[in-house]
Amino acid sequence: MTRPADPDTDDNPRCASGKARLFVEGELRAGAALTLDADQSHYLINVLRMGAGDGALLFNGRDGEWAARIAQAHKKHCVLELTARTRAQEPLPDIWLLFAPVKKARLDFIAQKATEMGAAVIQPVVTARTVVTRLKDERLQANAVEAAEQCGLVAVPEVRGAAKLGSLLERWDAIAPGRRILFCDEGTAPGGARAALERLAGDGWRGTPLAVLVGPEGGFSPEEREMLRSRSDTVALSLGPRIMRADTAAIAALAVVGLMLGDW
Ligand code: SAH
Repeated sequence: MTRPADPDTDDNPRCASGKARLFVEGELRAGAALTLDADQSHYLINVLRMGAGDGALLFNGRDGEWAARIAQAHKKHCVLELTARTRAQEPLPDIWLLFAPVKKARLDFIAQKATEMGAAVIQPVVTARTVVTRLKDERLQANAVEAAEQCGLVAVPEVRGAAKLGSLLERWDAIAPGRRILFCDEGTAPGGARAALERLAGDGWRGTPLAVLVGPEGGFSPEEREMLRSRSDTVALSLGPRIMRADTAAIAALAVVGLMLGDW
């Protein structure tokens, strides 16, 4: 998977712990040896200027986080030996982000920030006023992986293929049974956010699977707004009197949910 060229990462190539962290596909167990692909080998050896004996942290989303040492510092197929598990596998908060794709740079931004804000699923949705419809899923996934490495996660959100909002919601009970939707609605009058969140929580925040829905630059159509507001599993939320960019709204809504879920 090609790492996105992220200026922050290149300036500050390590995560908060100061150690290089890499998401890998292979099984992680004591004594195992793991050969990195050319992209990740280049990153450790050429970008981070690491060499034989240097340590890194690996995670695969299943086996927790493992400390590893470079056994062969090869620029194209670096070999790492796993030494010890440093963290157990932890689930991501059960939050999905449904968002209407926006222009490329901001799309990368949304994938990164949704990951940092704890989203478990990143689901692009095509709405009536969505302009961008061609999406490079692998690019979004690469941004989510990069953000997970940087922010100390041991799992990576699942980036799904784009789906039409209407058909997704028609199948919602089958796709996401019991998952309630926080509909960020620029058409809802400000001032009712706390009451809306209480309604969303219903019988309690903990354990309630949630989805945050954010529209495109052009906003939701009146028909979409009417459809969403008529659903019993959906609560419309105003994020205040200012119209935010879609990516800002996604972060703001995920922050509110994170606070209410007690994830902070
Ligand atoms: N063009 C629209 C704004 C779209 S902003 C207009 O001028 O009304 C893109 C998306 O961000 C919206 O569809 C909504 O999901 C979210 N958003 C932006 N500002 C918001 C607010 N104040 N309250 C709730 N959602 C908001």
